[in-house]
Amino acid sequence: MASSLAFSGIGLLNPHKLPYSTKTTSFIRCNNLSESLKCKDNGRPITAGRDHNGQAAAAFPSVLTAPDQLLDRIPVHKSDTRLRIFSGTANPSLSQPTCPPANENLMELLIMIDACRRASAKNITAVIPYFGYARADRKTQGRESIAAKLVANLITEAGADRVLVCDLHSGQSMGYFDIPVDHVHGQPVILDYLASKRICSDDLVVVSPDVGGVARARAFAKKLSDAPLAIVDKRRHGHNVAEVAVMVDDMIDTAGTIAKGAALLHQEGAREVYACSTHAVFSPPAVERLSSGLFQEVIITNTIPVAEQNYFPQLTILSVSNLLGETIWRVHDDCAFSNTLKGALWTNRFIKISGARRGPRRHQFSAASASQWRRVGAPNSERRNSQPVGDLLSRQSTTPSDFKSKSDPNPNSKNQTECAFCAGHEHECAPEIFRFPPDSTSDWKIRVIQNLYPALSRELDPPNSESVGGPMTIPGFGFHDVVIESPAHPIHLTDLSADQIADVLLAYKKRIDQLRAFDSIKFVQVFKNHGASAGASMSHSHSQIMALPIVPPAASARIRSMKEDFVQTGKCGLCQVKQDDLLIDESSHFISIVPFAATFPFEIWIVPRDHSSHFHELDNDKALDLGGFLKLMLVKMSLQLNNPPYNFMIHTAPLQIDSTELPFTHWFIQIVPQLSGVGGFELGTGCYINPVFPEDAAKVLREVRIPN
Ligand code: AMP
Ligand code: ZN
Ligand code: ZN
Repeated sequence: MASSLAFSGIGLLNPHKLPYSTKTTSFIRCNNLSESLKCKDNGRPITAGRDHNGQAAAAFPSVLTAPDQLLDRIPVHKSDTRLRIFSGTANPSLSQPTCPPANENLMELLIMIDACRRASAKNITAVIPYFGYARADRKTQGRESIAAKLVANLITEAGADRVLVCDLHSGQSMGYFDIPVDHVHGQPVILDYLASKRICSDDLVVVSPDVGGVARARAFAKKLSDAPLAIVDKRRHGHNVAEVAVMVDDMIDTAGTIAKGAALLHQEGAREVYACSTHAVFSPPAVERLSSGLFQEVIITNTIPVAEQNYFPQLTILSVSNLLGETIWRVHDDCAFSNTLKGALWTNRFIKISGARRGPRRHQFSAASASQWRRVGAPNSERRNSQPVGDLLSRQSTTPSDFKSKSDPNPNSKNQTECAFCAGHEHECAPEIFRFPPDSTSDWKIRVIQNLYPALSRELDPPNSESVGGPMTIPGFGFHDVVIESPAHPIHLTDLSADQIADVLLAYKKRIDQLRAFDSIKFVQVFKNHGASAGASMSHSHSQIMALPIVPPAASARIRSMKEDFVQTGKCGLCQVKQDDLLIDESSHFISIVPFAATFPFEIWIVPRDHSSHFHELDNDKALDLGGFLKLMLVKMSLQLNNPPYNFMIHTAPLQIDSTELPFTHWFIQIVPQLSGVGGFELGTGCYINPVFPEDAAKVLREVRIPN
């Protein structure tokens, strides 16, 4: 189980693009559903005698055996996972947080319970440090399931005799179980740790990030030397906040509420803000928000394992092993465990698993956009010390001139002269959104239309924030539009004049401005596929705009990297990007480069000279300049590489980006010629081998002469 992978990638099912017909509603789903069970130490926070890092920890009573020692799993195919008990105990406690991937973890727990039951265990305790689906505890609208109750039924039905849970989202869900429930709080562990920091109590205020968490925060404040309590009221600002604020919540999901609260506390004069929470669900963009400098420290427990790549300098993870272990002892010995809840037992007994101080990151591959970002502005000396794999491999073989496209860029039949996107065929298209010029009845130059086979549908309900961190799928809500760049079939983008291309860019901007008005839209991706092997199914020149209800992981990772760079250098990475050997060309408002860690051979970035986070900030002047410059880059690439299929993507910041993130987000266009295709290594590892030195590619492109 690897919760961190929960949103590491999203797959998009678009029936139109599938080779077989399917009636599936399009949806976004997380890739990691296919992860198989692991035999050992699969990230559970507690196993007998060890914490989830494999370090010794005073954990479970030895009579109670943790599942890894109890069970022998035979991972076969995912759909056929078997499990056999090879040694046992009469009273097993099976520990499993049902965090993302919640369904897989839940199923694992059910199978373990079932195996114990069939092995005649007398008393089975399901230890669930984090109870997934806890937020689905009531009907918020008609025909909605109450998944928390369903999960409780499943656990009971599987054969559990008792359940031990930690910080349930709402206490009443205990009533969903018809078997005894022991409910412990992670609070004492966090309190102990805070106490060890010796914050002067006069300076301290405990803050509930919303009205719903007041009872929790009050209990917390009481134990923290009876500190005063404050509540973030979303409607108005508070006053006279003490110097040190400790914010308390049961779980941090996207960290939106707690980050907003912290920003407010800073505005009101707080010097240090601590975030404390038992469960770290950490759905994107939680890590960016939490590490953005708002918090002095983010203190969480290991009820949900936090993947190492989600560590950030301010993060402290505390172990609940002692807390749960002691509780199990007490339940087993039939003695009261209320002391456990009061925290009396826990003074100075927290285990700090990780201060999560991150050393300087090393980038071995030129694959991830994150590393790309770091490398792009790296000085020469540093760059040479950290060669991307591609650099090493480039010694073997190719010279830049070997890179000529061999594929036919036309996705449709060679003889095709007209299609649904052509003028006169408007009735064959999905509805129009707008056209340039706006009032023309027939002589349009550009049309923005709905996609006839949309990957995202505006008819679905947008996902709420809960579904992002909870279930594995979110509805495929969103917009998917097509921009027809010219009325004539044979015209390519590069055949258009600078001002015609500027109009295409302004059409993107206009559509983004419309999409921005929707609260549910968090991110807009503009892209162009040119040529069959670049993914185009229509040869008529067009591009596409997709508006998503989430910030995709690649964008989050890019922002994280940009931020890291900013923190280290104090400057925006792309404002500093100009380097002679990587530079291709310059215009009044833009520069073009081959990024230092280019993932693909001859990849080109067009970067605005002036700092700007969002593409939609483009004004008419800059659009005209960019129109000519984009054309120049596409023409140079086509001449040098034999008219290859290509993609370009506009990388702009998320729409509802926090103002603190504006200084280090800088939009750019990435142009990628499709020369080599994606092989097994790339598919297997997500790392790309680029056989052409970026400096060489830049030099070649710089020197392409365009015939008059
Ligand atoms: P591509 O596959 O990259 O060439 O993009 C073409 C897009 O146009 C695809 O997403 C199709 O779903 C969409 N499309 C194809 N035919 C039509 C049509 N008649 N009206 C609107 N969209 C269309
Ligand atoms: Zn056409
Ligand atoms: Zn910048």
